[in-house]
Amino acid sequence: MSAAAAALAGAEHEIAIEVRGVTRKFGDFVALDHVDLNVEKGMVYGLLGPNGSGKSTLIRILCGLLAPTEGTARVMGLDVAQNAEIIKTKIGYMSQKFALYDDLTVMENLNFYARVYGLTGKRLEERRAAAIALTHIEPYVDRAAGKLSGGWKQRLSLGAALMHEPRVIFLDEPTAGIDPVARRELWDLLFQLAAEGITLLVTTHYMDEAERCGEIGYLYLSKMLVSGTPAQLKALPLVNPPGERRLEVQTPQVARALTWLRTQSFCPGATIFGQSVHAEIDNSISDSELILAMHRNGFPRAEVRAIMPSLEDVFVTLTEQAAAQRSGARS
Ligand code: ADP
Ligand code: MG
Repeated sequence: MSAAAAALAGAEHEIAIEVRGVTRKFGDFVALDHVDLNVEKGMVYGLLGPNGSGKSTLIRILCGLLAPTEGTARVMGLDVAQNAEIIKTKIGYMSQKFALYDDLTVMENLNFYARVYGLTGKRLEERRAAAIALTHIEPYVDRAAGKLSGGWKQRLSLGAALMHEPRVIFLDEPTAGIDPVARRELWDLLFQLAAEGITLLVTTHYMDEAERCGEIGYLYLSKMLVSGTPAQLKALPLVNPPGERRLEVQTPQVARALTWLRTQSFCPGATIFGQSVHAEIDNSISDSELILAMHRNGFPRAEVRAIMPSLEDVFVTLTEQAAAQRSGARS
């Protein structure tokens, strides 16, 4: 987004989460390094990055559980360092290991979390009914939480984290280890919440989930490398270097085609994607010249078509660049 467009967006949209130059150190170790982030109200924001990049640390800071060493962060306009106690009552947090009580039933778990948030009487009953309605967990209310499937456990955790009607929710890898159908159902719930104007910040390792987010940020080794809509990230110049294009190469001999392409000077990068190869191809060779070369080199049925980079391509490229810069800086 250009500076002018960003200013315009700022004027029109309310910012729910605002992070400015946040650094967090643990002793000498820098877990977050001058991180900036803006999340608009009602947005589903996806935070991606390899393990150890600082995703959970950033979430814990935004939940008022950990103070930044440097920089400022605001959630719903409240400074997280100065108003940590108020923030804890206004946000929902589903941590990577959200604590459900295995021996308690679904209903008892909901009651427990309602009381943690200070709910009693009619209000408690209303919020519990709302959580059950949203998550569709009614058939299991009397079942011990420990006996639920992974997907239902995550729904119950979400319901519990929503008990006090937070307007901003942080979910740390909510779909890790649950099956694809349960993942999709959980995402449907997240979108339902976003449609009600609730802001969600979600960490994930799944590209299909990243693709569904309104905006995504990529944290790599404590630095936020990029942030934007999936389309903006795919259009980054870094991912679309001048003088080359991205092609999908289709051939029945995918693995062999990958090996062959990687040895060609006109192909700076290639990976297998399902039944095809995604290749970066230098513009010095045309599509028809490439097809001809492939036909001559043992790929008689090779076909190519231009493609946009996938989000995975984006993150792989960004990671390679950042790693190269680090080793460059060291030598
Ligand atoms: P992610 O969630 O992206 O996997 P984390 O935020 O959990 O990453 O961790 C980032 C880095 O900070 C890791 O190297 C981790 O070991 C370190 N870290 C996190 N919390 C602490 C802590 N309390 N003390 C020391 N190091 C920590
Ligand atoms: Mg984590």
